[in-house]
Amino acid sequence: SSAVSKCSGCGIQLQSEQPDKPGFVPEQALNRNPIICQRCFRIKNYNEASSVAVDQDEFLRLLSEIGSKDALVIHIVDIFDFEGSLISGLQRFVGSNPVLLAVNKIDLLPKVTNWNKVRNWVQKQAKENGLKVADVVLCSAKQNHGFDRLLDSVGELREGRDVYVVGATNVGKSTLINRLIRDYSDLEQELTVSRYPGTTLDMVNIPLDDGRFIIDTPGIVYPSRYSEIVSRKDLAAIMPDRPLKPAVYQLNEEQTLFFGGMGRFDFVQGERQSFTCFINNALKIHRTKLERADELYADHAGELLSPPSKEDLEDMPEWTRHEFRIRKGSHMDVFISGLGWIKVNSDAGAVIAVHVPKGIKVLLRPSLI
Ligand code: GDP
Repeated sequence: SSAVSKCSGCGIQLQSEQPDKPGFVPEQALNRNPIICQRCFRIKNYNEASSVAVDQDEFLRLLSEIGSKDALVIHIVDIFDFEGSLISGLQRFVGSNPVLLAVNKIDLLPKVTNWNKVRNWVQKQAKENGLKVADVVLCSAKQNHGFDRLLDSVGELREGRDVYVVGATNVGKSTLINRLIRDYSDLEQELTVSRYPGTTLDMVNIPLDDGRFIIDTPGIVYPSRYSEIVSRKDLAAIMPDRPLKPAVYQLNEEQTLFFGGMGRFDFVQGERQSFTCFINNALKIHRTKLERADELYADHAGELLSPPSKEDLEDMPEWTRHEFRIRKGSHMDVFISGLGWIKVNSDAGAVIAVHVPKGIKVLLRPSLI
């Protein structure tokens, strides 16, 4: 039959003959107004804005297309897992397109936080990681915070171009996308989100009112993040859902802290000093002597030292040890991707070590707060 019209969601030519082909709409749905294809209908009603995830190679293939486009790139990262959710090498792929860094989940930082300091820190760390950013916006999708600033910034930087949204899994990208849809799309309550048919890319195109698109890319999976290797139920134990309450420990050298059974921090050498743990409060911290730590873990992992449970432990990689020397007078975080960080204000210097599952990203950075 002849072309009926176009899907008001994704713009594809509608047809009602072949259910397995793009643009299908059942005969009886043809008299709806506006008409959307079955695929868009599903996405709209099951509300799956961006649940697709891909591995790094696949993602880099998708990314490399952005460099050849004239676009604004929004890179969304998680402040709780900044280095873990930052896409390394993004700069290489975006070419000369501007990057707006949206730093999400700022509601997780303690209530008394110097936001200017945080913004400067982000700016500096982004630069250090080889990323040139046109703007940094701190936001909380959950608390609906910072979005006006974000939308203003998008408006300023977009200049009539398409907008690509990139991010790792779990950073809050779908929330952000849905927000952009509400504020920028011309389709209002009616469908707005759809996987754009006919492209080879696994991306979702959302039409904007000026004929441009918001392009949602799949979330990139980094196996170096704690949140990717724990079981679903343990995710709640490591991922905070309210502001962090930093836990301060005065330690002598040769003392150890266990974070449940998720990881371990050794104060190997140095004068008595304080260590501040920015770790989800749902994880119990156990203090012990360094010389007893191995034995304690061998005897009590999965029980006293949990989560993970004994069963889940079997699915986790073996721990490896990372040692760091913290220079005299420096203020550093020992960062563990997805688990949090331990702040060290070292007047006298310190040697510390962390033990985490093999493959988890661990690094030393200037303190965030
Ligand atoms: P996506 O995988 O990047 O699309 O992320 P989602 O939007 O599905 O969010 C992933 C997880 O992070 C969910 O558990 C959200 O509740 C949580 N989340 C998203 N935004 C925020 C935020 O601003 N603050 C906090 N605390 N959690 C958030």
